[in-house]
Amino acid sequence: MNACESILGLSPYQGGKPIEELERELGIKNVIKLASNENPLGASLKVVKAMKLSLKEIHRYPDGNGYELKKSISGHLDVAIEMISLGNGSNELLELVARVFVCKKTDEVIFSQYAFVVYPLVTQALGATAKVAPAKEYGHDLNAMLELINDNTKLIFVANPNNPTGTLVSDDEIYNFLIKVPSRIPVVLDQAYFEYLNINDQAIDWLNEFDNLIITRTFSKAYGLAGLRVGYSVCSPTIADFINRVREPFNVNHTAQIAAICALSDLDYLKESRKVNDTGLRQLEEGFTRLKLSYIPSHANFIAVKFSNAMEIYNSLLKEGVIVRPVEMDNFLRISIGTAEENTYLLQALEKIL
Ligand SMILES: *Cc1c(COP(=O)(O)O)cnc(C)c1O
Repeated sequence: MNACESILGLSPYQGGKPIEELERELGIKNVIKLASNENPLGASLKVVKAMKLSLKEIHRYPDGNGYELKKSISGHLDVAIEMISLGNGSNELLELVARVFVCKKTDEVIFSQYAFVVYPLVTQALGATAKVAPAKEYGHDLNAMLELINDNTKLIFVANPNNPTGTLVSDDEIYNFLIKVPSRIPVVLDQAYFEYLNINDQAIDWLNEFDNLIITRTFSKAYGLAGLRVGYSVCSPTIADFINRVREPFNVNHTAQIAAICALSDLDYLKESRKVNDTGLRQLEEGFTRLKLSYIPSHANFIAVKFSNAMEIYNSLLKEGVIVRPVEMDNFLRISIGTAEENTYLLQALEKIL
């Protein structure tokens, strides 16, 4: 049997180590996971209640068009319902968009060095060519990305804030970048951490001006629903129609749709998410400074911290019952913001190890 050449060169996506796995290995309980940028609050109780009610309908197929959820998002962002697409996590939308626009080996996809690992994965899976722009102070260098554009460019990915660096490019810079990208080239603006930022939602307004802009957002991070797998994109109705053609008919399950509708209206939870994250960011930054560790100032729910021997620290932290995330960035570990207690435990464990 012969798999496609593009598949043979792929390595599977490495997620954070599951809590249960480490608990089994060490024979301990109470493992702390700060590895996957999950919301340390747990899901909103209102959302959990809505999910329980949704189970009464679980013998039926979900609404394949996700009408009610799209309507909620449409109201939430004040955009036309035809501009919204739903995905099994925003990750699926990144993949669907790539499938829509990237067709052959010579097609080029531009993204930044140290950007979200899914971009190289989907590019490679489609057998296309990745064009990686060198990072600027670990973040996106949008000018370097512009310089990579040529006739073969089929897609550009920008993550803002970026994962795993936590860096943020200003709205002005993104806007000026969008002006310079030829309108035939779709740009995905991946805003998985948007809700953690305390800024006006300018990106959605840019959709009036740029037909090639695709914004993706998710319920996995600030809304605390990573396990349900639901995200969305907002873009021109033309591109949304293309996405609709390649997606699987029931790509977002019923419970996820109901939960996401409830989550959008649960402003208290979102506010608490932000508060816990802001406080946790400060707590960890102060702790890292005290331990004389350098880190990249973050705008998301995690921090990339530099060590002299990241993998040794990673393994030592595992032995202390803390899971963090090795990343493809020299000697950095990515540490998600936890609850105050989890952050304290992590800092104590680090102090002990160092
Ligand atoms: C977490 C993340 C996503 C997607 O998460 P989903 O759970 O698939 O919605 C997308 N982009 C970035 C940059 C992320 O960090």
